[in-house]
Amino acid sequence: MCTASVCGICQHKSWSGCSNSDPNHIKKIMNTSSKSDWCSCLPFDEDDAVFIDGTSYPPRAGCGYRRASDSSINK
Ligand SMILES: [Zn+2]
Ligand SMILES: [Zn+2]
Repeated sequence: MCTASVCGICQHKSWSGCSNSDPNHIKKIMNTSSKSDWCSCLPFDEDDAVFIDGTSYPPRAGCGYRRASDSSINK
């Protein structure tokens, strides 16, 4: 089971846990916070990108890098 985590890069909410990132776990964790609190980092690897039901979720904590312009956290 994945757990909520704080991204060390942008200091926003992320997740960590299952090595194979179960979408249901991620969804459950992230949906308890509003999207504006979510980690806005981009995944290092395309394989780490998380898309669930058409929504883009943050990559696992520690698996992302800061967006070029991280002043805006839309999308
Ligand atoms: Zn999990
Ligand atoms: Zn982040």
